Amino acid sequence: MAKIEKQARSALEQGEPVWEYADAPESTEIVHLRDRYGLFIGGEFVEPKSGTWFETIDPSNEQPLAQVAEAGPEDVDLAVHAARDAYETHWRDLPGSERAKYLYRIARQIQERAREFAVLETMNGGKPIKESRDVDLPLAAAHFFYYAGWADKLEYAFPNRRPRPIGVAGQIIPWNFPLLMAAWKLAPALAAGNTVVLKPAETTPLTALLLGELIREAELPPGVVNIVTGAGEPGAALVNHDGVDKIAFTGSTEVGKIIRRATAGTGKRLTLELGGKAANIVFEDAPLDQAVEGVVNGIFFNQGHVCCAGSRLLVEEPVFEPLLEKLKERLQTLRLGNPLDKNTDIGAINSRAQLQRIEEFVVAGVQEGAEMYQADCDLPERGFWFRPTLFTNVSQSHRIAREEIFGPVLSILTFRTPAEAVEKANNTPYGLSAGIWTEKGSRILWMAERLEAGVVWANTFNRFDPASPFGGYKESGFGREGGRHGLEPYLELDGGNGASTR
Ligand code: NDP
Repeated sequence: MAKIEKQARSALEQGEPVWEYADAPESTEIVHLRDRYGLFIGGEFVEPKSGTWFETIDPSNEQPLAQVAEAGPEDVDLAVHAARDAYETHWRDLPGSERAKYLYRIARQIQERAREFAVLETMNGGKPIKESRDVDLPLAAAHFFYYAGWADKLEYAFPNRRPRPIGVAGQIIPWNFPLLMAAWKLAPALAAGNTVVLKPAETTPLTALLLGELIREAELPPGVVNIVTGAGEPGAALVNHDGVDKIAFTGSTEVGKIIRRATAGTGKRLTLELGGKAANIVFEDAPLDQAVEGVVNGIFFNQGHVCCAGSRLLVEEPVFEPLLEKLKERLQTLRLGNPLDKNTDIGAINSRAQLQRIEEFVVAGVQEGAEMYQADCDLPERGFWFRPTLFTNVSQSHRIAREEIFGPVLSILTFRTPAEAVEKANNTPYGLSAGIWTEKGSRILWMAERLEAGVVWANTFNRFDPASPFGGYKESGFGREGGRHGLEPYLELDGGNGASTR
């Protein structure tokens, strides 16, 4: 029970008026689950040659949702060949304006079926429905709309550089934003004239497969998009397949390094969007209430399963105490529970393995001497749950300050000068994002120039737009997604290839 509900109970006992939340669950009727989902290859759902299937569940209650095909090497090979055929016989030579029509159609159909996608995303991934409904879905549609607009303007995007597609792209995506990551990957690749084999994460395959259905209904030529489900093995088979010209990966730095080694010297193009340990930096002059909302959004959005999450809070010393007090109060008002309830702020952790990983980090934080504070809420009996958590008394050497936890856990440190804030913010192997909270415009610019992060937000956090490039430095990877920059990794260009590497 959240503190707010306990206060309501005690108010009730004292005869005061009480304002409680009623349950507001989103209906699941709109979702029509199949018992089994095959692989999407050559425009059809097919049985896996591997003959194996795995179960996908709802992490909020551990109930099975469906059986999903586990792609073996032979299946990946078929998918790559289907993509190659579609590339050579159709897609490569289709005028950009015709490719755009398909992308617009997919974007519109995502909008039309947004509620179905949002409910399914929440059921399979555990994220609150208000986030899948208001963030993931609108952004997924927006990415297709945005890149549809570029498909016939590549010559204008890269003047005098003769933009040409690369060929077959292998795209491997994680479980934190399953549909949105599929959209980030597919839309620029298709707009640029490539065909694709997409590998969704093992725990969250269902919205990608629904997208496969939608792609078929949009009458995209067979083989332009293929979807192979399964664990890490089909991902590795895709990376190592000779018929793949480009790999785009989002996931852990550990697997990113394996992929970089595997593609080195093969001539395959590669972009990597990996982990992060972003600093969210609050200066003394920041509007504190607004900053508290930004800090909460920065780390508790999507249960902290966000590569650019503001997982390290750096606070200027004079405002440390008042900010901490406000944060603790705010934590108690967060509503944790049924992800399908429209009032839920914190949903389920995506998998048992991820929950165990978070628990391990939190134990390490306590053992290393940091002070833990958790929201005072009850956890549902079934499913994977973790309370919103803060750590103070954190030193830069603690694991909770250095490693990506990928959960609702915030480490709080302090600083005295802007230079110290920069030094601490950059003291990480990662470099994906950062946030600055101050009223002083010149300080924002001074800080942004010095922060080693691909994205720097000022007086906001976790804001995304398809027109804005996103990507990292150092161990957060290389290459950009979004914006005109997001087309480059999918194009051969005269005079160098920018961010992508061979
Ligand atoms: P992974 O990096 O293992 O997963 C990302 C994707 O890569 C999944 O589709 C995965 O498949 C696939 N994959 C796994 N192994 C290989 C391989 N050898 N070759 C090719 N593809 C592979 O992340 P995890 O799901 O294991 O999460 C572990 C940690 O990684 C998290 O706790 C978090 O810290 C970080 N992470 C970071 C993300 C980010 O956006 N920066 C996203 C996800 C995780 P499968 O799902 O079947 O394993």
